[in-house]
Amino acid sequence: MTILVTGGAGYIGSHTCVELLNAGYDVVVVDNYYNSVPEVLNRVETITGKSLKKYECDIRNREGLEKIFAENKIDAVIHFAGLKAVGESSRLPLLYYENNISGSVVLFEVMEKFSCKKIVFSSSATVYGNNPIPYQETMTTGDVSNPYGRTKHFIEQILGDVYTADNEWSISLLRYFNPIGAHESGLIGEDPNGIPNNLMPYIARVAIGRLPQLTVFGGDYDTKDGTCIRDYIHVVDLAKAHLCAVDKVLNGTGIEAYNIGNGVGYSVLDIIHAFEKASGKKLNYVIGGRRAGDLPAFYADATKANTELGWKAEYGIDKMCEDTWNFQTKNPEGIK
Ligand code: NAD
Ligand code: UDP
Repeated sequence: MTILVTGGAGYIGSHTCVELLNAGYDVVVVDNYYNSVPEVLNRVETITGKSLKKYECDIRNREGLEKIFAENKIDAVIHFAGLKAVGESSRLPLLYYENNISGSVVLFEVMEKFSCKKIVFSSSATVYGNNPIPYQETMTTGDVSNPYGRTKHFIEQILGDVYTADNEWSISLLRYFNPIGAHESGLIGEDPNGIPNNLMPYIARVAIGRLPQLTVFGGDYDTKDGTCIRDYIHVVDLAKAHLCAVDKVLNGTGIEAYNIGNGVGYSVLDIIHAFEKASGKKLNYVIGGRRAGDLPAFYADATKANTELGWKAEYGIDKMCEDTWNFQTKNPEGIK
């Protein structure tokens, strides 16, 4: 079985390629390296001792995608390729709509042309907006406060329409919570360009000395210690959820959404303290003002993924911090 992984050189995609190769799938990656480097895929091959097929191509490039489908018999697609910075999406909404939505539409059209109707899509917990917690798949989605989140909601809706029009499609919408951690080899991990937006890579860069100080965004929320609560999930657990979802889409038809989280909420201070323990470093941080658009607390009800996909997160917060630190110390300047 051959799986096309769009955005396979990225953070979650690369970890998923490792799991796919280890499980015996043939893997074809398409990535334009906008937010990654080709070396990541060499490292995936080092970790697994297996090779994958790589195409440098933008998913908006229809001819390029058609060539990939013509040269490979693709059985299913895992679609990670997209831009993901929430703040940037508010400054550059058209870039986000063009890259994420137009790119996805081109991909789905090419899939249809080549009669490949099985897809696992990277969605996000952000589609739940201001729902009560824990989030459940049955809740209404789409009350989202930024263009990035809206691209995820719209692509879910587009795939819903595609399935309604043609019941031969088989679609899993994976709503990720907060992926952190790294492969335990320390060869691949999260390596954002520029100053990180997300908590964990920011913490790791403060700990290694590349950034002077972490600002905790808000200490006055109505939570146990005043800081925001999120559902952090080890990226390897998340990658394994894709194996379960691929199995599901290969063996049936339909469209389903699944929450992929631990079901446990940790505060920003919990994460800081767990990271200090894992790294043995004292983190330099200050409590600052709230970040616009942040919700006080959310976490997953991941029961559906457990009962229908047979997936459950295995790793806890200590392992997430240890593996992040291992990756950071082995790659102090990132992956070149
Ligand atoms: P990432 O930026 O590390 O990986 C995305 C990859 O897609 C990159 O390698 C990038 O170069 C590539 N890409 C982007 N646009 C492309 C295009 N037009 N054509 C070809 N390649 C393109 O991000 P990630 O953290 O691995 O996230 C993967 C997916 O999961 C994204 O769709 C993201 O929105 C979604 N997601 C991520 C998180 C998170 O916190 N990391 C949470 C929820 C959902
Ligand atoms: N956060 C923080 N300082 C930072 C980055 C993030 O305090 O430099 C907080 C943020 O307010 C949120 C949590 O860490 O409560 C997780 O933020 P992240 O951007 O990683 O993920 P989000 O949940 O916003 O998608």
